[in-house]
Amino acid sequence: TRPAYCPPDVEQLGRATWTFLHTTAAYYPERPTPNQRANMLNLLHSLPILYPCSHCASHLGETMKTNPPDVSGRIALSRWLCERHNEVNESLGKKIFDCTKTDERWKDGPPDGSCD
Ligand code: FAD
Repeated sequence: TRPAYCPPDVEQLGRATWTFLHTTAAYYPERPTPNQRANMLNLLHSLPILYPCSHCASHLGETMKTNPPDVSGRIALSRWLCERHNEVNESLGKKIFDCTKTDERWKDGPPDGSCD
C-alpha cells in the first residue's frame, strides 16, 4: 500500500467518493424540498463533468443517460445510487452489493450493534 500522504489513486478516490455519496443519500430527507432536490440533482449531474477520473466520469455519464437520478426521497435515491455503484462493480468484476442492505451499511450498522 502507498503511504497515506500520497495523492489518491483511482481506488482510494472511488472509496472516498462512494462513502460520501452513499452517506449523503442515506441522510437525504424522505420528503425533500424542491431546493434540496435541485441541489442533489446538481451534485449528481456535476460528477460526469468534474469527477477527476475521466473514464469513470464518462462511464457514469453514459449510465446516467439511461437511468436518470431519482431524487424524490432517501429510499429511492439510495437505491438509485446502489444500482449505479453495482454497474461499476460489475464492470470491474467485483461482487454485486445487495441493495436491501444499503441502510445497514451506510446509516444504521448491523443489528448486532457491533458498530454502535
Ligand atoms: P468500492 O467499490 O469503493 O465500495 C466501497 C464500499 O461500498 C464497499 O466496501 C461496500 O461495503 C460498499 N458497496 C459496494 N457496492 C455497493 C453498492 N452497490 N451500494 C452500496 N454500497 C456498496 N474504478 C474503475 O477502475 N473504473 C471505473 O470506471 C470507475 N468508475 C467509478 C465511478 C464512480 C462514480 C466512482 C465513485 C468510482 C468509480 N471507480 C471506478 C472506483 C471503483 O468504483 C471503486 O471505488 C474502487 O475500485 C475501490 O473499490 P473497493 O473494492 O475498495 O470498494
